[in-house]
Amino acid sequence: MAMSPAAHTTGQGQIYQNFIAGEWRGSASGKTFSSTNPANTNEVVGHFQQSTLADLEEAVAAAGKAQPAWAAVPAPERGEILLRTALLLEQHKEELAALMTREMGKVLKETRGDVQTAIDVARFMAGEGRRAEGETIPSAMHNKFNMTIRQPMGIVGIITPWNFPMAIPAWKTLPALLAGNAVILKPASDTPLLALKLANLLHEAGLPGGVLNVITGPGVVLGDALVSHKGVNMISLTGSTEVGRHIAEICGRDLRRCTLELGGKNAVIVLEDADLDLAVESVSWGAFGTTGQRCTATSRVIVHKAIQHAFTDRLVAAAEKLQIGNGLDEKVDMGPLVNRGRVQAVHQYTQVGQQEGAKLLTGGAPLNNGDYSQGAFYKPTVFSDVSPDMRIAREEVFGPFVSILPVASYEEAVQVANATEYGLSTSIFTNDLRTTFRAMREIESGLIYFNAPTTGAEIHLPFGGVKASGNGHRELGTHAVEEFSETKSIFVSYPPSSFGL
Ligand code: NAD
Repeated sequence: MAMSPAAHTTGQGQIYQNFIAGEWRGSASGKTFSSTNPANTNEVVGHFQQSTLADLEEAVAAAGKAQPAWAAVPAPERGEILLRTALLLEQHKEELAALMTREMGKVLKETRGDVQTAIDVARFMAGEGRRAEGETIPSAMHNKFNMTIRQPMGIVGIITPWNFPMAIPAWKTLPALLAGNAVILKPASDTPLLALKLANLLHEAGLPGGVLNVITGPGVVLGDALVSHKGVNMISLTGSTEVGRHIAEICGRDLRRCTLELGGKNAVIVLEDADLDLAVESVSWGAFGTTGQRCTATSRVIVHKAIQHAFTDRLVAAAEKLQIGNGLDEKVDMGPLVNRGRVQAVHQYTQVGQQEGAKLLTGGAPLNNGDYSQGAFYKPTVFSDVSPDMRIAREEVFGPFVSILPVASYEEAVQVANATEYGLSTSIFTNDLRTTFRAMREIESGLIYFNAPTTGAEIHLPFGGVKASGNGHRELGTHAVEEFSETKSIFVSYPPSSFGL
């Protein structure tokens, strides 16, 4: 059995295989696709299997064969494998972070954080293996005992995006495994490498073959086939709202559970009494961290007119101070976008903003010269004078791009914040306790921060959005294991014996 995801090395990067039934296997297609470094697209990070439906069938068969035995392993023992995985991830943290920076561009500080999230989830989920999995509930009858137990879903298909190449595969896959499921993981084609590395470490930690299978390939063909496969009992997608809607339709037809974590158009509200330096620092990090490619990225700033100019001047100065470049350089604040196609997509929004009459204050252009010439770089971009009906105030841009919307009161700020189809994360800068508690109720989003950026989930709290940001499920924390399992209610009667005992 091959113990490394890399099959061969060519002059231009390694060839990586699928992980099926505990083995590294080439695709039946005999074809590969390549992933390149977005800081220098001439550098190939690796070649990955262009998987076909035949490979998917192999993965489903392997998962189906392995799942019953895995479900029979005591949950604490399943947890022990996750704990060993956490230790292995820790040992390899620097190497994985550097690979991730090469694969998708974000700076080392952030890719270290991405791997750390996987470590934290593995530790947390290891502990969940020892927690009670059901409840005992008093019966309304005499001589009767009621309880619930949790059971795995069976085979879970997990489809992940490219912006958190290890954290997101980990935060879906690990609770699914802990709950006793077998998993077929399909990572995004821009970042397949880290998902394969995670599978390798889980295998090294003792995960039996077939319990986790990773297949790489295009979402439209392979992802669609995974979602439609009758042998797959549940789908977990993290991705765009458009793909989420499509998947929900397919799963809906079969009444199959699907958990969707989708896009966002996250707002920071800066009120009159805000600490402006803190607000500027938080917006800069929220909007330009991960080059704006986070589902929780700050995309709108709703600012009180009384402080609008002071805030805007400072934000523009902060954006212009950011050092942009290859994320492997520790001095760099912001890396490239994930690929050149994304540069075009973000630039189109700059053109839309200008056509709509918003005011471009800084950025608004790709970086093409010198060290930037081979990469997918875009300048941090700030628009002011944005109104809620403009497209740049409503649509997810997914780049280093922020729109400033002035308002005259707290009430108007909440109305504008809620005037979007999304509802993932919102942040409010205020020191007023009354406003703080009102906002907790009045803001329509799954996550709400006070005096902090819109980003920064903690792995032991539930994570997810409302409205078009999801379909009501919550992942991370103790909720995650529930998402990947079914509750069964059990009623035990013990009628008294004929002796009246
Ligand atoms: P995407 O929707 O294009 O792709 C996500 C995954 O779905 C990829 O693996 C892709 O190959 C697959 N896919 C594409 N078409 C498919 C289809 N027809 N059937 C099945 N699978 C298919 O998203 P992306 O560009 O990779 O990621 C960015 C998006 O993800 C943004 O909208 C972002 O907000 C969102 N996101 C959400 C969260 C969250 O937790 N809410 C976290 C990260 C990213």
